[in-house]
Amino acid sequence: MSDYDDQNIFARILRGEIPNATVAETEHTLAFDDITPQAPVHVLVIPKGRYVSYDDFHANASDAEIVDFHRTAARICAERGVALPGDGFRAITNAGVHGVQEVPHFHLHLIGGRPLGRMLA
Ligand code: C5P
Repeated sequence: MSDYDDQNIFARILRGEIPNATVAETEHTLAFDDITPQAPVHVLVIPKGRYVSYDDFHANASDAEIVDFHRTAARICAERGVALPGDGFRAITNAGVHGVQEVPHFHLHLIGGRPLGRMLA
């Protein structure tokens, strides 16, 4: 597993040291509204385990953690009214320096509620 910074802000949220607007919580997953939303729907989905990035999570998490994570994300899309056959959404994860990842704890951005435009980079 990659080096993991226990002081990153999402680790602190998971420990209850920093408040968050929880959207969903399961055994392995937490989801909360992004503090700086880019659209009417902007939810961050994070595993509770210590994973730095998309690749770290999918290489090292258990099948139960991975399934729980993605089913939770899909459920939130439905609950927030952006799932298909509705208007749709974007699911993004930033990784590392080139991905401009600010918080080094794996997270998926679920963004929707307005037309998002074509994403080229
Ligand atoms: O993918 P990246 O690491 O760049 O995004 C981090 C996200 O975490 C940002 O969208 C930021 O608004 C969000 N954030 C948050 N609550 C915090 C700190 C950051 O929702 N306390």
